[in-house]
This record gives sequence, structure tokens and C-alpha cells, in this order.
Amino acid sequence: MHHTLLAVPLTSTTPPLDEQCAEALRGGAEIIELRVDAMDDLAAVEAFLKAPRACPIILTIRSSAEGGGWDGDDAARIALIERLGLLQPGFIDVELATWERSANLRQKIELVAARERPSARPGAVSTDRERNTLILSHHDFRETPRDLAAVFDRLEAGGAPIIKAAFAARDAADAVRVLEQLHTRAARVSLVALAMGDAGLASRVLARKLGAFLTFAAPRRGAESAPGQPSLDDFRRLYGWDRLDVRTRVFGVVGWPLAHSRSPHVHNAAIAAAGVNGVYLPLPVRPDWEDFSAFMDLVDRSPWLDLDGLSITIPHKEHALRWLHERNSPVSAIVTACGSVNTLTRTPGGWRGDNTDALAVIAALRTCPALALPPTPPHAPEPPTDTQTESAATAPAAALDPLVGRRALVLGAGGAARAAAVALRACGCRITICNRDGERARRLAEALGADRRDWSERDAIEADIIVQCTSVGMWPRVEDSPISARRLHAGCVVLDTVYNPPETRLLREARQAGAHVVSGVEMFLAQAEAQFQLWHARPAPAGAMRAALNPPPGPG
Ligand code: NAP
Repeated sequence: MHHTLLAVPLTSTTPPLDEQCAEALRGGAEIIELRVDAMDDLAAVEAFLKAPRACPIILTIRSSAEGGGWDGDDAARIALIERLGLLQPGFIDVELATWERSANLRQKIELVAARERPSARPGAVSTDRERNTLILSHHDFRETPRDLAAVFDRLEAGGAPIIKAAFAARDAADAVRVLEQLHTRAARVSLVALAMGDAGLASRVLARKLGAFLTFAAPRRGAESAPGQPSLDDFRRLYGWDRLDVRTRVFGVVGWPLAHSRSPHVHNAAIAAAGVNGVYLPLPVRPDWEDFSAFMDLVDRSPWLDLDGLSITIPHKEHALRWLHERNSPVSAIVTACGSVNTLTRTPGGWRGDNTDALAVIAALRTCPALALPPTPPHAPEPPTDTQTESAATAPAAALDPLVGRRALVLGAGGAARAAAVALRACGCRITICNRDGERARRLAEALGADRRDWSERDAIEADIIVQCTSVGMWPRVEDSPISARRLHAGCVVLDTVYNPPETRLLREARQAGAHVVSGVEMFLAQAEAQFQLWHARPAPAGAMRAALNPPPGPG
């Protein structure tokens, strides 16, 4: 079976190359790229190449025209490739543009880099004087062009045993298009196909599933040689690199921006703990409906990707519902009530939409002993599912539900507020909506048959439960709170949906006032656990998910 190598580029001669190489190998690297264009101590490079070594080396002297540090002329660059190539690194990377420039350059490169594959396996160290293997490469730091196939066709026509192309990704759709080239070509040619930047991460991680020759990893965080390159540690610990194979199912979170999302940590930890063959990736998709719709259409017609489930976050939750509606795809009753989708699941009949935020609000509130459901007697009816929430309040056990009849104040009128209000109403609460934009509050209150109060009155509204659904108090503005500490009192339950920081100023003040407090962490975990169950048809490993979330107050 094909094995995709984990490659670490080295871009400096300090600390000494042999030490850097040893550190990379300890971290799981299998091949090293020497970016000689970024190194100023050539004597150190030569000494390193002459010494015995434990892994193959890719020799790269990247021109500035393709994002490298070599400003000199091509003749001097090719002369250096020849000189260092004689030291038998194993692989030599040359840009296609350089290769195509003249027969004379090609002849010189071919003196040290063969267009046939060497007899040795790529992972084995060659000891004879056979020539290195040629990698023909192409880099585009501006865009991922529309006609990607044409770029790869040109690379293939160069006749090298290995081809490599890297493109700046605009969003995750570009990563999928690059992966499509891997999917269609990997069986006949060794190739590396990468989308660069945060939006391209999927192309780097799924390189293994789709049979790339290698993927690049930074030796550690902060030491990337190209934008969006994960560290060795991220590849192996976060994305479970060693477990990925051709059958790996793919999941991810779609939103914009996603740089601080904890969902990959939580879902990948759950996947690892449950022993599922899967991986969960950040898939940044630009904010407009057209971008979302184009991304979903692309993944929908790419079954080879095995993309089976998506978390949907800001600003695409309503876009996801529209996309499903336009395809007459099924949505759960709670999705219709919430008007938004936070979970997409691929089923044999197409994509299905769910909203696990609404259930998560109730699950989070239930962690407060005062609102927990009494134990279910043996042979009692099953608790209501998400499709039955409309009737939950009137179910026979409802009279025992401590939520029934409670006065709930929902602060906010966005997606989270709507989900909270829908769920609380279904549980029999009496709801008041209060939002900075009064018109938005009026529309939501009308839709749900709830009360509405002006934002200026928020400190005077009597409530047993406060569910804070605005973004006030979120990192970095952690000293903001939407309501005055004076109005918080013992006996009141306060759920802040904000989960970074885990304890907001509102929760701190509520706790000091003797109220029961529930962190947005509980809601976040509950919605993620519900997603896990939808996708993997088994109980979520809650402990592993909680341990992975553990968000320090800060950017992520
Ligand atoms: P949204 O649709 O954009 O709504 C944002 C809400 O915040 C609106 O009601 C907005 O009021 C209000 N707001 C923003 N800045 C404000 C300010 N300075 N003063 C007063 N109100 C302000 O976003 P969303 O999806 O509902 O998310 C809202 C919050 O819920 C976020 O903090 C998010 O992290 C949290 N959330 C948590 C979870 C979880 O699992 N824990 C899940 C989903 C959401 P206007 O209408 O007046 O602009």
C-alpha cells in the first residue's frame, strides 16, 4: 500500500543541521527538505550532506520568482544544484519554469537528477552513486487557478518521476479542488499537491488518504516554511496522521473565520477515543451565500472525499438551511423552528440538516441540579427527541420537569438566541426576548409567541433563568458584561453561551451573587456530542471531548 511521507523543510543552518534533522526524525519526519535558498552557510550544508544520514533529503534552491530566497541568476543556481547534487541528497526539486527554460539547463540538471525513479525505495538511504530523483515543481502564491488540470498536465509532461504543485488557497473549496487532482492522478504519478494558507489545511492532512508522495510539516509551531503548514505535532496528535488511510471518513467545521475554533480539537479527540477511522478538519469558507453554496456543491459532487459530516458555524448556519431547501433535502423539526442548521450529515439519500444548539441549551441547563430532570422510573416513556420538542412540554412527565413554567430571559436575537428560545419554549418556559436591536427582538418574539422588552430595560426584567446569547464578554473583551451585577440574585440560573473564556464576567458576578451558573462550555460540549452521535451512531466519548476543549482564555 502507498505510504505518504511526512517531510520537514529546514530553512536555517542554526542550530546545526544534524541536530535539526535528528529532532525532526524524533518528531516523526521521514524525509527532510533542505531549503538551501534560505541558508547562508553553504559550508554547513555541504558538511551535512557529506556526513552519514538517517533519511533521504530533498535538495531545494527555490527561486524568488516562486516564493524562495534565491535572488541570483539561474546559471549560478544550477551550478550549486550540480555541486550539492553530487553529494547524493536523494531528491532534487527544480521548478518546472526553470526546467522548461532551456535544453542546456535541463542537461545540467540531468547530470545529477534522474528522470527515472531510483531503484531504492524513497524511504531507504541510497549508498551508491546513482543519481538523485528529480521533482518538478510549480508554486503559485496568488491563487489556485480555475484550470488546475492544465497546470498538472504541464507538470506531468515534464516527465519527472515526481511532480509537486502548491497554490494559495482562497478558501476550503480550493483545497478540495487541489485534492481532486491528487485523487485523479495519484494512481499513475507520484505527486505532491498542496493548497497553501489556513484555508488549504485539508489538502495537507488528506494527502495521506489520497496517496500523495509526501506532505510538508513544520518541525514545530512557529517554524513554518510556507503559510498554513501544520507542525509535526499537529499532524500526529491533533489530526491522527498515523491512523489515516484511504478509508478514512472526513468531517469538518465550515465557517469564517475559523482560526480560533476548538471544534477540531474536540472532535478529533473524540474520534481517537472512540477508535473511529476519521479525521475532522477546519474548512474555512468565505462569508457569502455564493461561496457557501459553491463549496457545498463541490463536496456534494466529490464522493471520493468521503466527507460525511459538517459542523456549520457563523456565518453559514442560515446558508446551510437555504442550501438544503433548494435541494428539497430533509431537515429536522427543530431546524425549521430555529431557522438554521449547525450540523450537516451525508446520508445515502443526500445531506440532512440538524440543529444541535437547541438541544445543547437544554442539556447545559440540566447540568444545574435545580433544573435536572427527575430520574426516569422504570418502563417510563422515552424522553422526547429533537423532532418531538414541540410536544415535549405537554408530555405526561412534563409536570415533573423543573423547566416547565419558569420565566426565561433570553438576551440576544441572533442564531444562538433563537435556538435557545425555541428549546426553552418547547420545555414549557415563559420567554422574554431582549436584544440591542429592538426590531430583531420583535421579529423573534413574534415568531415564537414570546414577550419582548427593550434593551434599556434588561436590568429590570424578572427571570428565573437567564440565557445570555449575545457575543458580549467573549475574548478578547472579557471585562464586558451585558447586564448589571446588581440584578443577579440567589436562586436564579444563568447560562452564558459564550465559552471563551469558560467563565465570563457575567458568570463570575452571578456566582458571587449566589446564582447557579452554567458555562457556555457545557453547551458547546453538548452540541458537539450530539453531532458525534449523529455522524458515528454511537455515544460520544464525553470525557475525551471535555479534556480536549479545555480552552484557555485567549485566541484559541
Ligand atoms: P449572531 O447571530 O451574530 O448574534 C449576535 C447577537 O449578539 C445579536 O443578538 C447581537 O445583537 C448581539 N450583540 C453583539 N454585540 C453586542 C453588543 N456589543 N451589545 C449587545 N448585544 C450585542 O451570533 P450567534 O450565533 O447568535 O452567537 C451569539 C453568541 O452565542 C456568541 O458569543 C457565540 O459564541 C455563542 N454561541 C455559543 C455556542 C455554544 O455552543 N456555547 C453555540 C452557538 C453560539 P444585535 O442584534 O443588536 O446586533
